Amino acid sequence: MNIVLMGLPGAGKGTQADKIIEKYDIPHISTGDMFRAAMKNGTELGLEAKSYIDKGALVPDEVTIGIVRERLAEPDCNQGFLLDGFPRTIEQAEALDQILADLGRKVEDVINIKVDQDELVKRLTGRRICKVCGSSYHLVFNPPKVEGVCDKDGGELYQRADDNLETVSNRLEVNIKQSQPLLDFYNKKQILTDIDGQKDINDVFADVDALLKSSRN
Ligand code: AMP
Repeated sequence: MNIVLMGLPGAGKGTQADKIIEKYDIPHISTGDMFRAAMKNGTELGLEAKSYIDKGALVPDEVTIGIVRERLAEPDCNQGFLLDGFPRTIEQAEALDQILADLGRKVEDVINIKVDQDELVKRLTGRRICKVCGSSYHLVFNPPKVEGVCDKDGGELYQRADDNLETVSNRLEVNIKQSQPLLDFYNKKQILTDIDGQKDINDVFADVDALLKSSRN
């Protein structure tokens, strides 16, 4: 079960990743998480990654490909894996094919969780945080009882600078530009499936699950 999971920010990729790894008992390999862990531990890799991540840039392909190659060679990946956040460039996608070919394997399913851009903007700009306790709300999906006020301590709710319309729209544009060549790459190989991410979380997972089952029959 060798899976690549794709989806724009706000599409619910993390939520579906958690469900897939729980049900199928395969490791979740997120390059973003690996870089964050390396930065937290102050390793050489972490220091190198930090200089790119802080600028909002991609970590160079040779570094990223190297950590994925090492990770995929670990024994817990023998029964499969869920890649998340990788590949992000065509060079990475080609390297992944080569890494797996060397192991006598290949990417079996590329799942793209798809959500309209307007909906993504609504999801990503709706977050509100309590100034006092840091609790997180959402104007549409998890609103406080009284508008603008924290349920727990009455603190004022605010919108983080990262969640404003302009920043969110820019982030989405950058991600769309980055991911389109990869979607084309996997579409040509006929291993890409779009999953409607606008349904209820459990219904989205039911579709993901049905796809994974059918591609194994
Ligand atoms: P993420 O949590 O997937 O958004 O990743 C956080 C940051 O880590 C990204 O903004 C990049 O700087 C870096 N990163 C994660 N995955 C990759 C990748 N496949 N290629 C290059 N940089 C990456």
